[in-house]
Amino acid sequence: MRLFDPHIHMTSRTTDDYEAMYAAGVRAVVEPSFWLGQPRTSPASFLDYFDSLLGWEPFRAAQHGIAHHCTLALNPKEANDPRCVPVLDELPRYLVKDQVVAVGEIGYDSMTPAEDTALAAQLELAAAHELPALVHTPHRDKLAGLRRTLDVVRESALPMDHVLIDHLNETTVKEAKDSGCWLGFSVYPDTKMDEERMVAILRAYGPERVLVNSAADWGRSDPLKTRRVADLMLAEGFGEDDVDRVLWRNPVAFYGLSGRLTLDVPTPDATHEGNSILRGVPKDPGTGPADDPTTAAPAGAAADRHEATALPGA
Ligand SMILES: [Zn+2]
Repeated sequence: MRLFDPHIHMTSRTTDDYEAMYAAGVRAVVEPSFWLGQPRTSPASFLDYFDSLLGWEPFRAAQHGIAHHCTLALNPKEANDPRCVPVLDELPRYLVKDQVVAVGEIGYDSMTPAEDTALAAQLELAAAHELPALVHTPHRDKLAGLRRTLDVVRESALPMDHVLIDHLNETTVKEAKDSGCWLGFSVYPDTKMDEERMVAILRAYGPERVLVNSAADWGRSDPLKTRRVADLMLAEGFGEDDVDRVLWRNPVAFYGLSGRLTLDVPTPDATHEGNSILRGVPKDPGTGPADDPTTAAPAGAAADRHEATALPGA
């Protein structure tokens, strides 16, 4: 079984998660830029984050056999902070990068005028860069939020079939489907959509244009939800082809609209900007950190985390 998690925040996840995801069949992920929990105070910290989604996290994913792409945007929540909004001026030079397969997550959080402006501006950026858009729908007032979102999308230059509306549920699926957008469902532990409800929606509305994701992040979430939905689909009478369609071919088709999706997992590079994630760099006389008496580990001992992961100059 091959699985594609089209919305997961690996920045917030551990190497155990990567290993468990690979063992469960996950071979590709898309990581949307989002709110990190700690509010940012300047565009510069967005740019470092974007660089991390473009460089460091794909490097980390490749160590575990998983292809990693990202979507970049000013997220809905931080669109309300005037200190962050100037990142919109920096986005165009990031949206041309090969690993970027959509603009996102954009959309509404509290449905403020500032969010209106950021959403409309970023839909135009997507259209201008011939990229699809990943649009988050609010977790409160879901139907009102969906309707307002669809209105803004319809007024934009972006075709409806280049838009993935995410965090749908029973109350919003029908109107979203009728709009012609792609349909995203985030399956969480405890709250919102769970795998039983997801399978019931698939039975009622079919697998066409449906994507299922874990949206796993820094909160209570489960990076194996794609596999759990796949297993329940099979147990409830869906065929392997339906599972492959929802959990592989649909995300490939949607993000493939960017023309940039490459699903071969790159051979893991030894280092990212000189930085290895390995513990204990092989000793290479004359070049390695072992030459530095402040970081050298005792022979035979596990290396201190700083030996292998220290940034240049750290
Ligand atoms: Zn998210």
